[in-house]
Amino acid sequence: MNNSLPPHFTHPFRHLGASFFADVMPEPVLHPHWVHFNAPLAAQLGLPSTALDVNLFSGNQLFEGQHPLAMLYAGHQFGHYTPQLGDGRAMQLGSTLHNGERMEWQLKGAGRTPFSRGSDGRAVLRSSIREYLCSAAMTGLGIPTTQALSLVGSTTAVYREQRETAALVMRIAPSFVRFGSFEVFFYRGQTDELKALADFVIAEHYPLCAEAEQPYVALLSAVVERTAVLVAHWQAVGFCHGVLNSDNMSILGLTLDYGPFGFLDTYNPSHICNHSDHEGRYSFENQPFIGSWNLHCLAQALLPLIDDIPTVKSALAAYWPQFTAHLHGLMCEKLGLFEPQHNDADLIQDTLAMMAHNHLDYSRFFRRLADFESNQGATIRNDCLDLTAFDAWASKYAVRLLSEPNNTRTVRMNAVNPKYILRNHLAQDAIEQAERGDFSEVSTLFECLQQPFQEQTQYERLNAEPEEGMAVEVSCSS
Ligand code: AMP
Ligand code: MG
Ligand code: MG
Repeated sequence: MNNSLPPHFTHPFRHLGASFFADVMPEPVLHPHWVHFNAPLAAQLGLPSTALDVNLFSGNQLFEGQHPLAMLYAGHQFGHYTPQLGDGRAMQLGSTLHNGERMEWQLKGAGRTPFSRGSDGRAVLRSSIREYLCSAAMTGLGIPTTQALSLVGSTTAVYREQRETAALVMRIAPSFVRFGSFEVFFYRGQTDELKALADFVIAEHYPLCAEAEQPYVALLSAVVERTAVLVAHWQAVGFCHGVLNSDNMSILGLTLDYGPFGFLDTYNPSHICNHSDHEGRYSFENQPFIGSWNLHCLAQALLPLIDDIPTVKSALAAYWPQFTAHLHGLMCEKLGLFEPQHNDADLIQDTLAMMAHNHLDYSRFFRRLADFESNQGATIRNDCLDLTAFDAWASKYAVRLLSEPNNTRTVRMNAVNPKYILRNHLAQDAIEQAERGDFSEVSTLFECLQQPFQEQTQYERLNAEPEEGMAVEVSCSS
């Protein structure tokens, strides 16, 4: 394949005009080489899965028709407004159309932009592997996310705490617009730009809002709902994002900007996955509040477009009932409660309290729950510290299961409780091998995490909790 063949690139975001982005050009890297290529996503995008030129996925060459830009945005970082952020190391190359849906291509780690703020515009191999694998893992789990098409390594040196090498991830999403994309124009008092961006997002992604009586309130409501659903998914699967600044919040409700994220191993609601988050602002249990907090930032940014303030308040107020209802539904499925009963919420709370008390592994507990009746919970009980607490919970749960039809329940539970999760120690093993030039573990994890609900006997070793004291610390450095 050469660079004049399809895909055909267009640039709808460019039509907004120069106040929304900066023109950029990727800085070439030395010796680009494939680490992994997402063949299933390539097929969805109509690309061949082999014989693609690595230069086209490293920024060393562009596909014909690509015209890179870096988006402007601002955002609240750890609660404080930063007036200018913007794509400091990601370049949006252009968008392609697939069955009527537009997909933006964004190359992360492509070098400096006017928004790099003195940094190098690069991403290291370690953090790129984490973003690449977690994008695939989230897709496999059915959780809204940006996707990753390719992962390319290089010998270009990058300096963090030590010398590392630059890598590039081609991210794919219908849009990379963030809450912070609106905030920047609100705080600068650029209401024309604010309106143009809102109109663009509505036309491209929320066309029904255009027909509403108050289109910008309708937009806010739609984003509130998507965010509520997204955060409910994170809480149900035990995912901790780590840096939920408003510039990392997708206007489409996608998981965006994978950094120091972590899936829970042992269930601890106050778990902080980002080593740099000293106050625990972005702890696991705080995520739902932060979702709401960030939506308030977005709402404030939209205020110049809205006359009727009470409608904004009610749009925001919808977040909690939507989040709670969605999470309740997901947790009932995880517990195998498919015939709703009035005290199911109490049972969910009791279950989580028992898990925390017993330091149980989050994903493993739920996966084992499908076998609860056949073994009276023996496999879970074996892992418990406080058997009395477990037995008290187990007898309540056993009674509750009596009112559930048995024939399909375990199958349905296994379809929502993943067996395979991108645990930090697994990603770390793949990273350490890749840093030695062996990318096979990246491939293995990628394959396995595509089907996290399927028993995959060849990957049994990936279904292991980290060994005692082997917890991996991750920070913002990437
Ligand atoms: P993050 O915390 O990864 O969401 O990044 C916050 C801001 O810093 C964004 O504007 C990024 O584009 C920018 N940034 C992060 N790392 C780098 C880097 N190595 N070079 C340039 N900009 C960066
Ligand atoms: Mg970011
Ligand atoms: Mg980042």
